[in-house]
Amino acid sequence: MPDSGVVASCEVEVRTDPLTGAVARINRARQGRPRQHEAVPIPEAEKGCPFCPESLEDSTPTFPPDFCQSGRIRVGRAVAFPNMYPLSSMHSVVVFTPEHKLEINAYSPEELADGIMASAAFARAAAERGYPFHFLGWNHLGQAGASILHPHFQVLAGKSPISSLNECLASCRSYRERESRSFWDDLLESEVSSPRYVGKTRGFSWMAPWAPTGACEVIGVIEDDSTSLLGLEKERILGLADGISRILKGYWGMGIRSVTMGVFSLPPGHGEGEFRLHARIMGRSRRIGCDRAFLELYGSEVGLTEFPEEYAAALRRFF
Ligand SMILES: [Zn+2]
Repeated sequence: MPDSGVVASCEVEVRTDPLTGAVARINRARQGRPRQHEAVPIPEAEKGCPFCPESLEDSTPTFPPDFCQSGRIRVGRAVAFPNMYPLSSMHSVVVFTPEHKLEINAYSPEELADGIMASAAFARAAAERGYPFHFLGWNHLGQAGASILHPHFQVLAGKSPISSLNECLASCRSYRERESRSFWDDLLESEVSSPRYVGKTRGFSWMAPWAPTGACEVIGVIEDDSTSLLGLEKERILGLADGISRILKGYWGMGIRSVTMGVFSLPPGHGEGEFRLHARIMGRSRRIGCDRAFLELYGSEVGLTEFPEEYAAALRRFF
């Protein structure tokens, strides 16, 4: 453990439902996660924040030297280190900005790109050690499930894909078999002129899905047939980050303060001709305390109040 006395070691039990295949990840230690509260003023919040630069080195764990020589992965101003309360044997936290800023309209493409590149570096290192699959997720603010409010991504790496990625890949394959075409080619072709189209950044097209899975959801799809974040050059990572930054600014204008994001990416060489790298981002409820109820949790459907064609028009102004 170089330059830190903090050790992350937790037992994570991953159970698969014998009937449905649904996965539950259990880590009792997560009950003890520290919690930051949005009501605390920023200067005071920074003092006790484990992810602010003054305390990050002392309060976060390091990777073993055979995983990362310097202990933490640094790209630009982003820092990746092990999650102290993991949900997988390879679970990284990626603090993408040293600034303790909570407003989503303040995140620049450059700092989001640093975070994505640090996430990809962690996923590459995990892949070299036998954990080829990765999933980059982001919960921002308590409504989205974040316990620490200082902005950070998380990356899970595993020997098999996370359930949603597996389901997405299976759906892509059955679409290909049924239609003899890639779903993503058809999606981009049909949506570019639709009222759900939001805009374009370098290498990515952004649109509201026909049937969103959450409030004001937007999907950013890579325009060529790349399947992996890990092989992406800096220019297109900046394109991805630029799109996220614009969506966040649009959300801010719509009164959204809390977001959840997932980046759907496969190991390089997987899913070619079927799958395509994409990110999904949604706002979390503005009006009620919880936006996941029986319909979402036990019905596997979603109840929404906004039409994609309407919020896409509002977001388009930011592209
Ligand atoms: Zn902080």
